[in-house]
Amino acid sequence: MLITKNKIIEDYKEKFLELHGKELVDGNNLQKYETLGELVKKYSAKDWASTNKEYSKLKNKQVYYLSMEFLLGRLLDNSLLNLGIRETCEEALKELNIDLHELEDMEQDQGLGNGGLGRLAACFLDSMASTNIAGHGFGIRYKYGFFEQQIIDGKQVEVADTWLKSRNVWEIKKTDKSEIVKFYGKVEMEVKKGKVKFVHKDYEAVLAVPYDTPIIGYKNNLVNTLRLWSVETICKEFDFSAFARGEFIKSQEYKNSVEAISLVLYPEDSFYEGKLLRLKQEYLLVSAGIQNIVNEYKSNGGNISLFNESVAIHINDTHPTLAIPELMRILIDEEGLEWEEAWEITQSSVSYTNHTILAEALEKWEVDMFKNLLPRVYMIIEEINQRYCKELWSIYPGEWDKISRMSIIGDGYIRMASLDIVGSHSVNGVAKLHTEILKNQEMSEFYSLYPSKFNNKTNGITHRRWLIKCNPELTELLKSTIGEGFMKKPTDLKMFQEHLKDSSVKLALANIKLENKKRLSKEIYNTKGIMVNPNSIFDVQVKRIHAYKRQTLNCLRIMDLYNRIIDNPNLDIVPRTFIFAGKAAPGYYLAKNTIELINSISNKINNDYRVGDKIKVVMMDNYRVSLAEKIVPAADLSEQISTTTKEASGTSNMKFMMNGAITMATLDGANIEIKDAVGPENIIVFGLNAKEVFNYYKNGGYNAWDIYNKDSRVKRVMNNLIDGTYSADKERFKPIYESLLNYNDEFFALRDFNDYIDAQDKVDKLYRDLDKWQEMCGVNIAKSGIFSSDRTINEYATGIWGANTIYRNL
Ligand SMILES: *Cc1c(COP(=O)(O)O)cnc(C)c1O
Repeated sequence: MLITKNKIIEDYKEKFLELHGKELVDGNNLQKYETLGELVKKYSAKDWASTNKEYSKLKNKQVYYLSMEFLLGRLLDNSLLNLGIRETCEEALKELNIDLHELEDMEQDQGLGNGGLGRLAACFLDSMASTNIAGHGFGIRYKYGFFEQQIIDGKQVEVADTWLKSRNVWEIKKTDKSEIVKFYGKVEMEVKKGKVKFVHKDYEAVLAVPYDTPIIGYKNNLVNTLRLWSVETICKEFDFSAFARGEFIKSQEYKNSVEAISLVLYPEDSFYEGKLLRLKQEYLLVSAGIQNIVNEYKSNGGNISLFNESVAIHINDTHPTLAIPELMRILIDEEGLEWEEAWEITQSSVSYTNHTILAEALEKWEVDMFKNLLPRVYMIIEEINQRYCKELWSIYPGEWDKISRMSIIGDGYIRMASLDIVGSHSVNGVAKLHTEILKNQEMSEFYSLYPSKFNNKTNGITHRRWLIKCNPELTELLKSTIGEGFMKKPTDLKMFQEHLKDSSVKLALANIKLENKKRLSKEIYNTKGIMVNPNSIFDVQVKRIHAYKRQTLNCLRIMDLYNRIIDNPNLDIVPRTFIFAGKAAPGYYLAKNTIELINSISNKINNDYRVGDKIKVVMMDNYRVSLAEKIVPAADLSEQISTTTKEASGTSNMKFMMNGAITMATLDGANIEIKDAVGPENIIVFGLNAKEVFNYYKNGGYNAWDIYNKDSRVKRVMNNLIDGTYSADKERFKPIYESLLNYNDEFFALRDFNDYIDAQDKVDKLYRDLDKWQEMCGVNIAKSGIFSSDRTINEYATGIWGANTIYRNL
């Protein structure tokens, strides 16, 4: 939008007065932040309304992205950037003696997600809006998002995330768009005009109330919507008759039990628990969402038989799978369609993304529990399954075992991924290797049955947040060398490679990195009290703490390096700062033990005078989007060391690459595509390949004790875990020790140990040639354009949704 500095000053002062009922000079930073947020919302309001008006004409396919998680982080800065008023606004505020960055720091992260899956959904929203796709996000407005992590005495302590404590300036409550969601009860059959109808009776109804957040496209006057559902009781807040009968407490209890449904995000990443409350959450999202989509479509004059031509419904992992039977229920019970027509519409509307092959993440619901909570939905799933198994029977006559493996319902459970494959027209993986594993291993029988449904869509990240916003100095360097084109068209970053011949450009790159490292060093000092050397290699592993991501492998090599320094205080190494951050699921014992280990190593090494300035270890608290934005631009080395085949894609690998870090990679997930993009000379690869890993799983042959006995360095670091080196309590790290040895670690950390250390020594050598190193960093930046989520969204739009870009005269 076009706006002058003076207009912003005037509007801002007026808005402040209106909101807070006092003069600007008397305000605090939180009030000033809220004022700016409201002003941004005001500036985007016209475009928001006109975008929705345009969508109501049904000229463009509407994409609904259903996800139990949206990890948005902060919205202020990116909204200003996308509106195109960030700089003008900064200047305007300066005249009012206000520092924009201070206001940005007042914003609480919107942390309604666990990690990669939720952050992907957030990047997709930004990319859909910025590339002119009519794409809406549907999710849940958890009162408490992902818990806040504090590290106390080296241990993780979970604190409730009260992100709604101060007002959320971005949302608008849309009471008139509420939907009723029904649980429990029974289903009765009625015959009306010779037609059988199923009627859901004696149910418990709750009210799903949406809150809308504007998703502002990058300088294109388009504003999409993120709609988050919150739950309320349908009855009046205060029931006087119940109060008079002395039943007030009871009605309060009821209110609490209803509101529990949207109270808190489940903090498990890649793990499924089978809890009733979680099933209620999933159905809340899906039922409110699908009713809302159908109602919107009909009120815009849409013909229900052509629904799939105007609507695409995408389900992010299996969590919103019930969208399939819920859409069937509405089409049949409420719209009166026949099964066959409803099925065709449903299948061609719905598409599904698989995010993981970890067995513990695969959702399956106990039939008895499910049937009791959602009786009509269960009937529909049963019918879907019956018709599908009949089809299987005709294709694979007599193959009982195969059919029972492929069945949607089996062993007393409903298998959500199977329902997705059968009920949708597209199943995608999130990186090349991951999709190949789905096709040839995990879902190979389904792939033979429906080969055309399977496809790959390699993940991406929005370069607006993960480059332009989080690394303004690098952005300036890029603008001054290759122009501004990359901001709209990120693949233009490739032109940067030409400029790397110029040694002044490489020097500028090095200086930008150093400044970013200094800034992070300050943050580390302020939050952890640890002094780190900005001239050391910043070696970073930040992500959820999980055995498959192998933070323990990282710990072991730091322990080994420490041993080498103790053995030889003159060891010639480039100083390094090891930076960790990440949350463990509260019930994940081993992950919590890993956090303790990292902090013990940090304590031990940072305080050993023999180590001096050579190495430092830091674990930063409460990893979240706003912290990632500070860490990513300051990293030299990006640790992406998951056991090959286990990390479906990864996205932090892309964030780091785009900011010029070198990747230390196993050939897993999107690391493979990063290697293909930058060439083998600009990435460091180590460890088992996919074939070797599958061979271990299939034929055995991994023996952790053998490695321990044969490799003295492995033996020594493993013993260090239990000999008091890192804790006076020798039992403290037994869980990690035992999982790696006695339980013969299913993630093969010890197998990759030596290869990992050699690769790290290679980094040490490479970094000494700073010109060469900066060249590598520059190539990584130049080749990162394809990892913009704009590319990913374009592939979804054309390859899955059949959604065109919108051109409007505005
Ligand atoms: C990008 C991101 C992730 C995903 O990181 P991976 O290393 O790909 O698992 C998780 N959490 C936050 C806060 C992120 O920004």
